[in-house]
Amino acid sequence: MMDCMHIKSIIPFTLIPGPNQPKDFNSFLYPLKANLDMLATGIKAYDSVTNELFLLHAYLMVVIRDMQAVKHFSWMKGPGAVQPCRLCTIKGIWSRARQKHYVPLRPPEGSDPPLQGPYTLQLLPLCTEHQILDQIQQIQDEPTAAAWDNLAKKFGINGKSVLNSIPGFNCIVGYPHEYMHLLFENIIPMLIYLWKGNFCNVNSSEQPYVILPEQWEIIGHRTAQSNHYIPASFSRIIPNINTDQNLFTAEAYAFWFVHMAPTLLQGQFTEERYYSTSPGNMPHQAMCHWHLPLSGQCIMYIVYSIY
Ligand SMILES: [Zn+2]
Repeated sequence: MMDCMHIKSIIPFTLIPGPNQPKDFNSFLYPLKANLDMLATGIKAYDSVTNELFLLHAYLMVVIRDMQAVKHFSWMKGPGAVQPCRLCTIKGIWSRARQKHYVPLRPPEGSDPPLQGPYTLQLLPLCTEHQILDQIQQIQDEPTAAAWDNLAKKFGINGKSVLNSIPGFNCIVGYPHEYMHLLFENIIPMLIYLWKGNFCNVNSSEQPYVILPEQWEIIGHRTAQSNHYIPASFSRIIPNINTDQNLFTAEAYAFWFVHMAPTLLQGQFTEERYYSTSPGNMPHQAMCHWHLPLSGQCIMYIVYSIY
């Protein structure tokens, strides 16, 4: 584990007692804001090397947690909302079957209400800080609670976080998506189920990206056999991806997808396009054909941006 994650490297600034989550996260963040305001201006500190006082500055750069926690810190509505994303303005549509909103890139036939879009993965309508702050102001200017609620629902914002007014903090890039849950707890497992042809109730048996069961038998066997040649410091035992996918942890998915899949899936897809446009020659493009959750679209947008 990285040293920065050890308890000796962590300075707790507040504790929120359970068992229920607080109604007002801001009330727990005010002491932090007060300190960060002071540190942005600068406080006198002692430099033991030069034996001099200097002005110490510190700034809040990012707030990193999973989506459920970050929505409270950022005062966004988050997953399940009509506008659930803090990075882009993609709109969700209501799924009667699942009784919640989801965010397809392409709307299904006759969707209600009509979806904005279709969206292009690489050209998602990104939010700006100015836009978010303006929307917060519009919500706060509403004269009634009902009007406040309507606008809050439309913008996917519950109110103003005290973190937004900390000097130097950007309310867009300050809440980056968290890699482990998005990619290795959600997107990668779903992608593999999609390639197996048993993703939810999607009938994908005729799709060109579905790998045949007999091939998955080989892939699973080779996955398990590979453990003999992987140093223990790299990863714990990787289960058989064909028969024991339910035993995979985020760590196992990460290792399998990054280090094993490029070899194991080589030549498994019949169409070249699944290999040709993706980072690292990986068959990511197959995921774009289906209604994957927002997190996947955004994280893949980020991945594509990096590459
Ligand atoms: Zn987004």
